[in-house]
Amino acid sequence: MVRKWLWANGYRYRLHRKDLPGKPDIVLPKYRAVIFVHGCFWHRHGCTFTTTPDTRRDFWYTKFEENVARDKRNIKYLLEQYWRVMVIWECSLIGKNAAPEQVVVELTDFLNSETCFTETGDIKRRLI
Ligand SMILES: [Zn+2]
Repeated sequence: MVRKWLWANGYRYRLHRKDLPGKPDIVLPKYRAVIFVHGCFWHRHGCTFTTTPDTRRDFWYTKFEENVARDKRNIKYLLEQYWRVMVIWECSLIGKNAAPEQVVVELTDFLNSETCFTETGDIKRRLI
């Protein structure tokens, strides 16, 4: 959905650039911007999608901690390389709290700003 909107509005991007940490979902070189579309469960957004399975809790806690640490590391590295980073949380796009029109506004604002880091939604994970 995000890709379709970008393309339709004249924003040109590349997908999953493997030379960048975290393999960002969308990269817009012209805007020096990378976009991650983060699943709330795996990336521990803190919203209602951020459940923890009942079995093997230790395994999951470790796994989740690693995921979040990796996200922070990747974003830090990207910012150090003068990339600008936006995280679009899954729950901003789907589910009962979704507001895709708002995502589009925030995305446009971000691309046309000098903001270094932003994330969608009311729950700020503050990965930097
Ligand atoms: Zn979420």
